[in-house]
Amino acid sequence: MPHLLEFKNVTKVFSRGLLSRTSTTALNNVSFTLNENEPTIVTVAGESGSGKTTLAMLLLGFLTPSSGRILYQGQDIHQLRGDDRMAFRREVQAVFQDPFAVFNPFYTVDHLLSVPIDRFKLAKTKAQARNKMEEALNAVGLRPEDVLGRFPHQLSGGQRQRINVARALVLKPKLLVADEPVSMVDASLRANILETLRDMQRDFGVSILYITHDLTTAYHVAKSIIVLYRGSVMEAGDVDSVIKRPQHPYTRLLIDSIPWPDINRRWGETEIKAKEMDLADHSAGCRFYARCPFAMEKCKIQPPLFRLQPTQAALCYLHEQYPQIAPEKLTELLPV
Ligand code: SF4
Repeated sequence: MPHLLEFKNVTKVFSRGLLSRTSTTALNNVSFTLNENEPTIVTVAGESGSGKTTLAMLLLGFLTPSSGRILYQGQDIHQLRGDDRMAFRREVQAVFQDPFAVFNPFYTVDHLLSVPIDRFKLAKTKAQARNKMEEALNAVGLRPEDVLGRFPHQLSGGQRQRINVARALVLKPKLLVADEPVSMVDASLRANILETLRDMQRDFGVSILYITHDLTTAYHVAKSIIVLYRGSVMEAGDVDSVIKRPQHPYTRLLIDSIPWPDINRRWGETEIKAKEMDLADHSAGCRFYARCPFAMEKCKIQPPLFRLQPTQAALCYLHEQYPQIAPEKLTELLPV
């Protein structure tokens, strides 16, 4: 059976204008797969500029890879035509950071939810359409009578983001790309929305690619994690190992910068001190070279991925005593 989604050695390079010879590699040789019959939640984590949003845009078909391929159920997403293309558009949905962006202030919630139902001809009657809306709203923990008929300004940020999730759910998706879905929502509502995503995966069999800069939410929502830095995978594996025992200097830096509840430890007091960001191009070698306190001469050559344990790997010469693993085998590390 083909995979639900397959990233095969995907690279995306942006050139800086027609007359410029400079370019930026936003994503560098990234491979992973999601299985159709094992719905899971995978986090793609990194700071701004890590390539995580480029990865989301590529997956949704809004950008084309510079090299490599993205397959959905075995077919290149840029070759899909007719019914296959419609199925991809329906089955792969997205929820973005800004819960306000998709709302037209002049339309009610009913309109927002009925547009996808009409577009994909999912209901024959108004009553059927209404049932589908109510089902989706109930599934995300909203009471239909509280939100249907309302305008956006009458809803809270948390309600709007749940309605965005309901809007995706109404289409019965197989894959949801959730790009920073809680970063603009009040902290008190984040846990509820993340719980809704987990319910979607468990109750409706939806695989979720959860994209975030926030490792604490990643820890609570996902089973596995891919950590990106300047477009390359730095570390990947099961979320428990990577977050509790990070092995790549970059991941350790990210984890150490999370504020701890220990009052004797000051916020920002990190075990690893990163060097000042140096934007000189070291692209031939390790992407973290310019900031890494452990950088060595050999790091000027691209390190391979080393498999530290069955479900954890890091792209770093500090672990060269371990066996190498090809980037295409990354999925073997990601538990479902
Ligand atoms: Fe640091 Fe070298 Fe490891 Fe890169 S490969 S993270 S520069 S030690």
